[in-house]
Amino acid sequence: DVKRNGRGSYQFFSEAMNEGARERVGMEAILRQAIRNENLELQYQPRVRLSSGHVTSLEALVRLRHGGEQISPTRFIRIAEESGLISLVGHWVIESVCRQLRAWSGTGLRNLRVSINVSPMQARREDFSATLLAATRRHGICPSQIELEITESTLVEPKQRITANLSKLREAGFTVALDDFGTGYSSLSYLNRLPIDTLKIDRTFVTDSGSLEGGAVVAAIVALGKALGKGIVAEGVETQEQLDWLRTIGCDEVQGFLFAPPLEVRDLEGVLRAGGLLPRDT
Ligand code: C2E
Ligand code: MG
Ligand code: MG
Ligand code: MG
Repeated sequence: DVKRNGRGSYQFFSEAMNEGARERVGMEAILRQAIRNENLELQYQPRVRLSSGHVTSLEALVRLRHGGEQISPTRFIRIAEESGLISLVGHWVIESVCRQLRAWSGTGLRNLRVSINVSPMQARREDFSATLLAATRRHGICPSQIELEITESTLVEPKQRITANLSKLREAGFTVALDDFGTGYSSLSYLNRLPIDTLKIDRTFVTDSGSLEGGAVVAAIVALGKALGKGIVAEGVETQEQLDWLRTIGCDEVQGFLFAPPLEVRDLEGVLRAGGLLPRDT
């Protein structure tokens, strides 16, 4: 019986693997086609300063259009990284963001800031800083209008090339945020030496901040970041209670469905012209 069970689960496992492999190959083909046909799309999620309610910047989040469907980056970014397609995606994102910033500035929305998510593979490339600088120059926008979001795992081991690239970019005026902070493995002693301006507290901590312990963890992260002179952004703020706590402990900025989901450009302009965002009724 045990044996049959064992074989059954082996078979299941291998079928699941085939299924996984098929899906990956399928997704890679879809992604390739989407890049070729420019079926990628950016949505922008506002980031709000707690003290003023002003929108301080927008996070660019990529989506893939396939048929009538919109595919989330959680389903294709990993595949893009593993297949090497991420450099094409990354390049497209940089170009689109610069073009959009330029277009906004032409309609009177000047000095907006956008955050771009950057994969480790992208950040590691020798030509990464040159590519970014060239794009900003070509589109006539300021490096200070762009923040680069990198995840902790990008920086865990001493990765000299990435650190050097980021340092160079900061000298040129770009800012750098550490995304999903708290979920990686970066040692706290290393944190003050990283070339970063901002910590983005991962959504999981914000979600758990309602409990006594969870609230204490978020407060400790805010205190640590502030002690190191970093700006603090809380990701994934969904409730008024979370917002109240973040305000109490002195978090600088928030992002989340309580204010706005990632939005298409046409839905953003009203928000941007109004200047601020109040929490949506929940
Ligand atoms: P991330 O950079 O941490 O982005 C935040 C994610 O949380 C986004 O998911 C956003 O839609 C979602 N989110 C925002 N507010 C809330 C909230 O209040 N509640 C909940 N439940 N979720 C919220 P999305 O757009 O699916 O992106 C997922 C991840 O994909 C991103 O995580 C980022 O790591 C990656 N990604 C997105 N765009 C790009 C890109 O252009 N390049 C690269 N390399 N990665 C990207
Ligand atoms: Mg991000
Ligand atoms: Mg994040
Ligand atoms: Mg994330």
